[in-house]
Amino acid sequence: MPGIDRSRVVGVSDEELDQFICGICLEVFVNPVVTQCCQQSYCSECIQWWLSDHNTCPNDRTQLGREGIGPAPRFVINLLNNMKVKCDFYVNGCQSVVKLSELAQHVRDCDYDESRRCRTCHFTIDSDCQHNCVDNLLVMNQSLRDENERLKAENKLLSMSGVIESTRSGLGNCVMTRQMAMSSPELIPQEARPSRCPYPGWIV
Ligand SMILES: [Zn+2]
Ligand SMILES: [Zn+2]
Ligand SMILES: [Zn+2]
Ligand SMILES: [Zn+2]
Repeated sequence: MPGIDRSRVVGVSDEELDQFICGICLEVFVNPVVTQCCQQSYCSECIQWWLSDHNTCPNDRTQLGREGIGPAPRFVINLLNNMKVKCDFYVNGCQSVVKLSELAQHVRDCDYDESRRCRTCHFTIDSDCQHNCVDNLLVMNQSLRDENERLKAENKLLSMSGVIESTRSGLGNCVMTRQMAMSSPELIPQEARPSRCPYPGWIV
């Protein structure tokens, strides 16, 4: 069906959205047309489909042919065009919310369209340039290598700061124990005395 699932519309109340629902597909209408008999709006495609099999209006059952259908009012089309909707591929993870008037363009270029992905390299096929799996894989290989280098550097930094931190706390512990031991060794409870100083010679 040509309509847009109403759950994809963002920022429009349910009551408001009810004004934009096609009576045939029960979704937000696309390319709306209006019946002259009862001023009901339908997707152009839906009413064409209906009339290919009926000669009455789907709403009031009066006689209806293609000549009884007219374009929807300009303001309805404008409201519709400015409606914000989620991308067709939001189920594939696309987070884009675009104006209905820009949806077709977005969908054409959306990276979440699985059918646009190359079956070999899984990269999105760009219609503007010649697709080349090897080039894509070389680019990916380089960026993975860069990422690997970055992680290695980060790891080195982390392990260095870890050593410095544990040395510092070890030294602090020894100094404090020694100071207390020198003033009054009996004040240090047995359980507070380090069983083994990591820096032998510091403890008295
Ligand atoms: Zn429809
Ligand atoms: Zn009608
Ligand atoms: Zn998208
Ligand atoms: Zn490829």
